[in-house]
Amino acid sequence: MLSETLLAVLENLNGNIALAFSHQAEDVVALALLKRHVKRPFGVFTLDTGKNFEETKPFHMQVESFFDIRIEQYFPNADEVAALEADLGEWGMRGGLDERKRCCQIRKVNPLRRALSGKTAWLTGLRAEQSITREHIAEIEYDGAFGLLKFNPLAHWTARQVFAYIDENRLPLHPLYRQGFKSIGCKPCTRAVRDDEDARAGRWWWEAPEHKECGLHIKEAR
Ligand code: SF4
Repeated sequence: MLSETLLAVLENLNGNIALAFSHQAEDVVALALLKRHVKRPFGVFTLDTGKNFEETKPFHMQVESFFDIRIEQYFPNADEVAALEADLGEWGMRGGLDERKRCCQIRKVNPLRRALSGKTAWLTGLRAEQSITREHIAEIEYDGAFGLLKFNPLAHWTARQVFAYIDENRLPLHPLYRQGFKSIGCKPCTRAVRDDEDARAGRWWWEAPEHKECGLHIKEAR
């Protein structure tokens, strides 16, 4: 359920709002909650980095069909990708933090900036317990990095609640969850994890936990 506070803010907010859909179980739950409880229009978008798993596109289409929506896709700039690949090659993002961040900047952050242009607020499926980089997120925040409001309706949900909601409501789930993945990202930078590892452990597993964000969810002062 969406909190009464968030529901009131969403219903009374002027301007365009959109959910960032990155194929996570949490995004599916957030989308279901919005469809069920929010009366105002909202958009849904995704970032196609060009490095997604083969399973992601069919899942994207399954979600569109299930919810009877269109998920708007944003792509990286082709010239920027060509320059990146000329410099780093196919696996160069694993060469170090600077290389990885450069790839995320071109394939994710720059397209996100275009996706958020003209929006009053965006919504995400982030949860505080996912990792140490997210433990202080709030349900309602100001996103200083992109200059708009940010809503995290699942901020205080547990993983157990997320998957129970998916089961109870027979919602679609990305097939990689059944192969031990706890988070869905780009193919070169995401792998399955053990049961006792946190939800973000399979992302950029060669990096220290405090670095494991791609630049989409960085808090900056207003
Ligand atoms: S997650 Fe990996 S492949 Fe995807 S944009 Fe970031 S560095 Fe590049």
